[in-house]
Amino acid sequence: MVKINENFLKLPGSYLFSEVARRINAYTTAHPGTEIIKLSIGDVTRPLAPEVIKAMHGAVEEMGTVEGFHGYGPEQGYEFLREAVAQGDYTARGVDIRPEEIFISDGAKSDCGNIGDIFGVDNVVAVCDPVYPVYVDTNAMAGRAGEYQEELGRWNRLIYMPCVEANGFSPEPPKEKADLIYLCSPNNPTGAVISREKLKAWVDYANANGSVILYDSAYEAFITSEGVPHTIFEIEGARTCAIEFRSFSKTAGFTGSRCAYTVVPMELERGGAKLNALWNRRQCTKFNGVPYVIQRGAAAVYTPEGRAQIMSNIDYYRENARVIREGLTGAGLTCFGGVDAPYIWLKTPDGLGSWEFFDQVLAQANVATTPGAGFGPSGEGYIRLTAFGGAEATRTAVERVKGILR
Ligand code: PLP
Repeated sequence: MVKINENFLKLPGSYLFSEVARRINAYTTAHPGTEIIKLSIGDVTRPLAPEVIKAMHGAVEEMGTVEGFHGYGPEQGYEFLREAVAQGDYTARGVDIRPEEIFISDGAKSDCGNIGDIFGVDNVVAVCDPVYPVYVDTNAMAGRAGEYQEELGRWNRLIYMPCVEANGFSPEPPKEKADLIYLCSPNNPTGAVISREKLKAWVDYANANGSVILYDSAYEAFITSEGVPHTIFEIEGARTCAIEFRSFSKTAGFTGSRCAYTVVPMELERGGAKLNALWNRRQCTKFNGVPYVIQRGAAAVYTPEGRAQIMSNIDYYRENARVIREGLTGAGLTCFGGVDAPYIWLKTPDGLGSWEFFDQVLAQANVATTPGAGFGPSGEGYIRLTAFGGAEATRTAVERVKGILR
């Protein structure tokens, strides 16, 4: 009889966003006609930039001709996009990353999950708490997380690095030795960023311990503060200890189009192997590339017009973030994030639990949020709000929440 991967059976019941959706459905079923404004799920709402659409149209036309037809593309991505990324996201910032170190993919979610394929099961994994759940669950599926402790809401083999008000929601290198370290800056869910000094300390820790930092920078385009690193490869020493994940999802509205990339520097070696070669082997075996039309669209983001258009969408979300942050702060709530990230991390009033405050805001203000406790034990006492909605709906949601506080 076939044996299943029993690690899947250890995963706790409901995925956070399913539970949020279930509660919203239960509420709207019991109160028909109620209009809920969703500041919960982190999906974009602005349409694709005209330059992206133009490039995709052009690529579709090409595909309809014998000369311009593209079948299977390179698993690593087309050269035109790898070069555009290397130039636009790295060389332009004075950072040396070459096209052969860039792997185009269908999403940072897949890459963050799949990267585990090239690492052994015995590695000790460190994650932030609160955390983007994909890092935890994919390690649990691979058998690296140990057993789930229901009462504590954590896995017994993972190192949890608390990101709390006292440390500015920025993780500290742990006392224990961690092999794989997931860092996310700008952070989902807290909206915090890791400073240059702290990131340097992380790079030094990883090089000293032979660890690898898995650096998720999916929200890089939202950084506005001076001096905040846009890529871990701005930090000296990162080429020998870090892998970086980036995505067009939040940068250019590709959540439904699917395009992202992972950077694995040539110097990164562990156990006598180049991780670039291992990741290449993994991708060539299990992945057949991103559609040509989509990669053409992604490349248009690096043209001057495309860049201006995507930045105007990002400004739109930034303004939403400001409306939420300033509106709720003005109403006496404590808000973090929302400056270099599209997420606002709101402290619940009167010490209310995350789910309790979620239910209250849903029922009284008809606004959906995401309970911080769903991102890890240290998220208790917070909710996450996103700036990805429409401007009008965001303003209305803020007014409604202010209304229930009066
Ligand atoms: N990384 C983080 C931190 C995210 O919050 C998300 C999406 O919400 C992703 C990665 C997934 O990005 P993609 O759409 O490229 O799979």
